[in-house]
Amino acid sequence: MNASIDRQNCTSCGTCWDTCPEFFEEDPDDHFSRIIGKYRNDGSRSEGSVPDDLEDCVKEAADLCPVQIIAVTE
Ligand code: SF4
Repeated sequence: MNASIDRQNCTSCGTCWDTCPEFFEEDPDDHFSRIIGKYRNDGSRSEGSVPDDLEDCVKEAADLCPVQIIAVTE
C-alpha cells in the first residue's frame, strides 16, 4: 500500500501524526505533515510505502484527516 499527502493543503492539525506516529510526523520547517524518512518513496516527504503492520493506522489517519488530503492506494 502507498500513501500520499497533499502537503500544501495541510492545516497542521496534528491528527495524522497523533493517530499514526510511526508513519507521519510534523515537518519542523513548514509544520505540515510529512512521511517518516524510512518509508518515503525516492526521498519524497509526501509519498511513501506503507508496511503491512501500519496499514490500519495509516488508513485511520486518512479517514480522520479533516481536509481529506491523505490518499491511500493499493
Ligand atoms: S490530519 Fe491532515 S490536515 Fe491534519 S496534520 Fe495530518 S495531513 Fe495535515
